[in-house]
Amino acid sequence: MKTIIGLEVHVQLSTATKLFCGCSTDYQDDGPNTHCCPVCLGLPGALPRLNKKAVEYGLRVAKALDMTVLEESEFARKNYFYPDLAKGYQITQHDRPLAVEGTLEIEDDEGHEKVVRITRVHLEEDPGRLVHVTGGANYSLVDYNRSGIPLLEIVTEPDLRSPQEARRFLNKLRTVLEYLGVFDGDREGGLRVDANISLEGSERVEVKNISSYKGVEKALTFEVTRQKNLLRRGLAVTRETRHFMEGRGITTSARGKEEEHDYRYFPDPDLRPLRVAGWVAGIDLPELPTARKNRFMEQYGLSLDHARTLTGDPRLADFYEEVAPIDPGLAATWVADILLGELNYRDMGITAVPPERIAELLALLRAGTITDKAGVQVLREMLDACAAGRPCERPAMIVEREGLIRAAGDEFTSLVQAVIAANPQAVEDYLSGKEGALNFLVGQVMKETRGRADPREVRRIVSQSIKMGEV
Ligand code: ZN
Ligand code: MN
Repeated sequence: MKTIIGLEVHVQLSTATKLFCGCSTDYQDDGPNTHCCPVCLGLPGALPRLNKKAVEYGLRVAKALDMTVLEESEFARKNYFYPDLAKGYQITQHDRPLAVEGTLEIEDDEGHEKVVRITRVHLEEDPGRLVHVTGGANYSLVDYNRSGIPLLEIVTEPDLRSPQEARRFLNKLRTVLEYLGVFDGDREGGLRVDANISLEGSERVEVKNISSYKGVEKALTFEVTRQKNLLRRGLAVTRETRHFMEGRGITTSARGKEEEHDYRYFPDPDLRPLRVAGWVAGIDLPELPTARKNRFMEQYGLSLDHARTLTGDPRLADFYEEVAPIDPGLAATWVADILLGELNYRDMGITAVPPERIAELLALLRAGTITDKAGVQVLREMLDACAAGRPCERPAMIVEREGLIRAAGDEFTSLVQAVIAANPQAVEDYLSGKEGALNFLVGQVMKETRGRADPREVRRIVSQSIKMGEV
């Protein structure tokens, strides 16, 4: 049974001020109702004035998604009553959105490139936020700091085929938005999703207001199972709106939802039609994720996997490009396969570690001064210090303090000789064809050097020494 999913994504644009007034959008650390004025409080007689930057951000997205910008778009009033909606209507774009017909490439479930069609993008204002008072209170509070924050609503065609694909679409979209510099992915609630989902031939269900990427995949996975079970039991899926209960991982029916015609949309008489199509040609886009991924493969000779991982976040890609000159392949392995894991484990972001330190570490590895194993130890000590708020020590200092310089020369030879001399039985076993005995001897040397020797090198030298000793 084919799963059919379409998304409506609301993205908070990271402009400095709100969509129709000069109030600052930087309210996260301030008290409720401290970033408000007559416009975003919807007081009588207050008039909206469109934020040019928000329009420019919307156009950047439209261009990046290869969309057609309408010659003339229009703001409309969407009328409904809710305490978080100060004016009794939301200013949005309805009949004539900012742009239509775009595309975004993602990976499908088999790892192939796939094009998801974008239906439209339009600008609208965010409503305020209700704060439900816990502890038996019989009232709620309302905070209008969010009222009037610019949103870009991005609507897709029903081109997604699984909850996993939906998550990948959102990840890719977020990456593009971050590259464009129009969105702050770290901001809580900065991206909210309504998801439409149906099984082929059945009615469609809309799951409203999911506020995390993981939530989208979870809500959709729940819906696939719920709808399949209904059909299996010979029941029909009801066309309805449902809410996602994040904590319980389930969706529940939300009755009494307005139909589109109940909103009584009409053009907002306070705002003139928007003619910005001519502006698009002059907008310069930065290098976008797909182009950067391809360049990484070409310029640095990276695998598709490494290139994809490293360009998944613009800050990570910048970080990689700072350390790549040491040795592109070595840098890719250490950043994508080792550093990211160690950062995740400590709940740290890539910006927490200075690229110069990683460059120094890579230089030590490349010169053969330390082994991979010692490299991991150095990395962990650096990150632990960063995580604890201590200054990030230089790798060379850690190597010296911990005595991690690769065992070499006389030290190395005498260690191997000592281990061979101390284990005559294992030597004999190895000579009579038991490979396991060699592993044992290598293990003994590794133990003595505490990771300062390269196991492959030890293996080669132990084997060589035994064979030479025999001659
Ligand atoms: Zn305001
Ligand atoms: Mn909307």
